[in-house]
Amino acid sequence: MADRFYPNVMPDFVAENPAIEEEQHPNPQGTNESLLKLLSTPYHILSKKFKRAALDLKETIVAETWGLTRQQVPDFTLYCGTLGTAFLLFKAYQVTKNTNDLAVCSQIVKDCDSASRHSRDVTFLCGRAGVCALGAVVAKYMGDDQLVFYYVSQFKEIKLTKDLPDELLYGRAGYLWAFLFINKHIGQGTIPSTYTAAVIDEIIKNGRKLGGKGRSPLMHEWYGEMYWGAAHGLAGIMHVLMDFELKPDDLEDVKGTLKYMVKNRFPSGNYPASENDRRRDLLVHWCHGAPGIVLTLVKAAEVFGDEEFINAAVAAAEVVWNRGLLKRVGICHGISGNAYALLSLYRLTGNAEYLYRAKAFACFLLDRAHKLIAKGEMHGGDTPYSLFEGIAGMAYLFLDMPDPKNARFPAYE
Ligand SMILES: [Zn+2]
Repeated sequence: MADRFYPNVMPDFVAENPAIEEEQHPNPQGTNESLLKLLSTPYHILSKKFKRAALDLKETIVAETWGLTRQQVPDFTLYCGTLGTAFLLFKAYQVTKNTNDLAVCSQIVKDCDSASRHSRDVTFLCGRAGVCALGAVVAKYMGDDQLVFYYVSQFKEIKLTKDLPDELLYGRAGYLWAFLFINKHIGQGTIPSTYTAAVIDEIIKNGRKLGGKGRSPLMHEWYGEMYWGAAHGLAGIMHVLMDFELKPDDLEDVKGTLKYMVKNRFPSGNYPASENDRRRDLLVHWCHGAPGIVLTLVKAAEVFGDEEFINAAVAAAEVVWNRGLLKRVGICHGISGNAYALLSLYRLTGNAEYLYRAKAFACFLLDRAHKLIAKGEMHGGDTPYSLFEGIAGMAYLFLDMPDPKNARFPAYE
């Protein structure tokens, strides 16, 4: 079990040392000394380091995933494919206002549009909705109304089949998330709620069919497994549902489902991967386990104002700090994603301890991710430049670190 993550031996707190200035020649990286020095570097100087590293990574990622492939798109998805590079460029544009990033981003989305034309996947992370939604939003920022119209029309063409699952990566919740993204950036009503009302009803109906009878009010399955986590299970579905105005009894069932999860969590504060796997306290990932569930609990605390959710989020964040320094780099099941759980708790509580902990995870990556991956001691991901499994997720985190109160888990929060 211990070989899934590095024992976290980083100090519980390190004060910033104002005497540390920007160095011309940085120290060798990957030692205890270099990591401690990063942790004590004043935040405004550290922020510059994160930003510089992120923008360097971005260049490499664009070259590797798009430039060098001569604009071929073997996998268009945001999760592991080329659209993830576009999403990173959109983030870089939001941070630096470099319009060149926006232009390249738009080109990449265009190539993903061609590649996904016949895809039957409907979600933001793994389907056609992600291409249409990001395409429309980027076109809006570029001031190209015709292109906005094109992508919005394409989004409206997406058909949801009856046999679709409810989860986030391939199912109804992932379609709803794309709807939220478009309306948030372009304006409420860009896609009318008539496109989502029946989808929400279907999710609730399916949830009640498997739930109830002395267990969770709502329960969903994906390939026969009743998952709890963000990617395929309850945490992801409830997270998205809480963004909609639900009928009172639907909202009550969402709340009841989250309370059921809190009540049946492991004594450690972690969460099972699925309903039928309630014995193995193993995974501490965004996709399965505490980190993804922290994000849902933080939102539940905001929506319901219930102290129970804050306390559960705090307990889960403790698990993330102790067992979340994974031997992987990405946001789905790696250190970068786990840092977002800590950032989200910082946003909710304002407690600087969580900012320090998120910063420590990010500093660990900044100091030694490249070295550990090169030595084979850390898994760089099956798709090493991708947003969810590769270093694009780390670059995204580095872009968020200078403004931690506004950090949001990419393509999810
Ligand atoms: Zn994962």
